[in-house]
Amino acid sequence: MTIAKLASLGAIALGFALAPASAAELKAYPNANDIAPPLTHIEKYAPVLEGSQGPAIGEKGFAVEDFGNGAFFVTEGVYQVLFVRTDDGLILVDAPPNIGQKLLAAAEEIAPGEPITHLIYSHPHIDHIGFASGIIEAFPDVVTVAHQETADNLARAKDPARPAPATVFEGVGNVFPLETGGQTLELRYPGPNHQDGNIEIWHPDSNTLMLVDVVFPGWMMWRRLALAEDIPGTFDVIQDINQRYDFDNLVAGHVGKPGTKADVDLQVEFMIDLHNAAGAALGSVKPGEGVDPADFANPWGVFDNYIDRVVVECVNALTPKWQDKMSGFDVFIYDQCMAMEQSLRVDGPSLRG
Ligand SMILES: [Zn+2]
Repeated sequence: MTIAKLASLGAIALGFALAPASAAELKAYPNANDIAPPLTHIEKYAPVLEGSQGPAIGEKGFAVEDFGNGAFFVTEGVYQVLFVRTDDGLILVDAPPNIGQKLLAAAEEIAPGEPITHLIYSHPHIDHIGFASGIIEAFPDVVTVAHQETADNLARAKDPARPAPATVFEGVGNVFPLETGGQTLELRYPGPNHQDGNIEIWHPDSNTLMLVDVVFPGWMMWRRLALAEDIPGTFDVIQDINQRYDFDNLVAGHVGKPGTKADVDLQVEFMIDLHNAAGAALGSVKPGEGVDPADFANPWGVFDNYIDRVVVECVNALTPKWQDKMSGFDVFIYDQCMAMEQSLRVDGPSLRG
């Protein structure tokens, strides 16, 4: 028998000897919360809270809400877009594939026989603009508009579903007015946040603000702080918008209902509590406690154990106050604590005063 074969037999024998515990034998941390951690089969999630649902979605598969002065909110229950009616047709902000063809039906309902003249991309993510090609196919003269960061991202992506925008504006913090057919939208890039290029879209005539993937009205944020590319930047933006804009309606991109300033305030409060809970846990939990000494040569293992215990502390601290304040709290709270503690360790504090 060759040495290689001997070695591989040895590895197999060792594998059997040190096989990890089966799923049934896996133990929770001693002080773990009742909320099931990730990768656990959950028989039933906590009930959706009253008031978290949006307008009823009928047979046509989408709902339209008139915000007045030409602004219309459209949702199929999970994604949201904004239409603005002008003298020449419609401006559409975002084209989520989940709504897809229903966007064309919604346009026809809002402005029968009128074209979509402008399509604004809030940011490059596929789930929000992946039906751009469908809009362009239906209205070949549509003018696509986005920030330079979004244009750069799409140039790299080379995705036929998300063509590069025809009109691009640049800069951080300045306002780009889009004036067409008697309507004005003000576009502004506040700097890095959920994704580079993610912009604020302000329609002053209806007091409507659109900002996507930052606020989740009535709901826990999507997992890992909604996949924020820049967590401190996301904190900056959400803490700024209630002061900057006097809005009555927030088109947040997700969940069924539009948002209000109260939804923003509630989520800011949650994010501050999350920041503080993760920070406190990072300070109180001791690395290495309870780790098998045989694992001390495995820094990934030691840190996995440490991070798990930090997350358990963070979840425990937030659950009593927050579990009945936002739908889906139990679904993603572990993800939020993990994202926050990781950001605190590599980005530093997100509450920068
Ligand atoms: Zn996104």
